[in-house]
Amino acid sequence: MTKRVYNFSSGPAVLPLPVLEQAQRDLVALPGVGMSVMEISHRSSTFEGIIGKAEADLRALAGIPDSYRILFLQGGATLQFSMVPLNLLTEGRTADYIMTGSWADKAVKEARRVGSVHETGSTADTNFNRIPSDAELRFTPGAAYVHMTANNTIEGTEWHRLPPVGDAPLVSDASSDIFSRPIDIAKYGLVYAGAQKNLGPSGVTVVIIRQDLLERSSPSLHTMLNYAVHAENGSLYNTPPAFGVYVLGLVLEWLIGQGGLPAIATINERKAGKLYAELDRTGFWRPTAEKASRSLMNVTFRLATEDQEKAFIKESTAAGFDGLKGHRSVGGMRASIYNAFPEKGVDDLIAFMRDFERRNG
Ligand SMILES: *Cc1c(COP(=O)(O)O)cnc(C)c1O
Repeated sequence: MTKRVYNFSSGPAVLPLPVLEQAQRDLVALPGVGMSVMEISHRSSTFEGIIGKAEADLRALAGIPDSYRILFLQGGATLQFSMVPLNLLTEGRTADYIMTGSWADKAVKEARRVGSVHETGSTADTNFNRIPSDAELRFTPGAAYVHMTANNTIEGTEWHRLPPVGDAPLVSDASSDIFSRPIDIAKYGLVYAGAQKNLGPSGVTVVIIRQDLLERSSPSLHTMLNYAVHAENGSLYNTPPAFGVYVLGLVLEWLIGQGGLPAIATINERKAGKLYAELDRTGFWRPTAEKASRSLMNVTFRLATEDQEKAFIKESTAAGFDGLKGHRSVGGMRASIYNAFPEKGVDDLIAFMRDFERRNG
């Protein structure tokens, strides 16, 4: 097998090796079926079994109550920026958006096309390097919903509490930290995530929605944009992203095998803790997020000069640490260390960083 590098990409991101190996083993013919998952009907009992098990495992893994529906959709998290307001922002109401980064910016832009929107808690004045405090948040009484971005993939910040939204349904873009730790779904109206960071390959998007919110979806909506239609049809209104759902199912089995979300959270805390400790050890590295807002998934940092950053990225790539360049909008470095990123890769990166510091500090 070709040697695998350490993949720090922000997404699509590293998948668990056992998942890739099983997908490879079953690629040409699923056991007992004699065809690949890409070749079978989505109406076949085989695929019904695959999507049914994925849903059941997802429900078990996160303890999702029966009063929530799980949808497997397409269009990425970005289509949810439109579907959320199209379905939930009903006539005469306002949706609140908490402005914590570039993805929140993109989400609110789509909501504005649909209806009345109120932005709150923006931390743009400090380049989104922190999550706002409760005192900085102002919600609209009777808001249609409040939208938050659980983990700000580009800026390296993450919510470590939930905003006090009262009775308003909380809608969370959890694309980059879903199932990296336990989640109390009952506190949300809707959670959505593109799969390609923590759940599987790109092409499938998970939406977890409280059943009663489906009543808001107007029959006049375009069919494919209507949550109620997807729920009624068990995510099989049209051809679903079958291969993506299959691999997502393998990732869920892997997560369960790891000991579930509490066990994964412990590992994630340990991985991020080591890396932040290294960044804080001397003044050489410059972590960009405020300590209390630091993401356990995307660790963002800079060096004193852009030349030094260029050298670090070049040398780290050559040494087998791929994808450490920060997002083009913010520069610097970003180590994305999602669920499937191996702890050994963090340890090896730290050793590499020590050596780089010794040579350049
Ligand atoms: C990656 C990402 C998106 C965009 O996801 P797509 O699936 O590419 O549409 C949206 N929100 C967050 C927080 C992300 O990390």
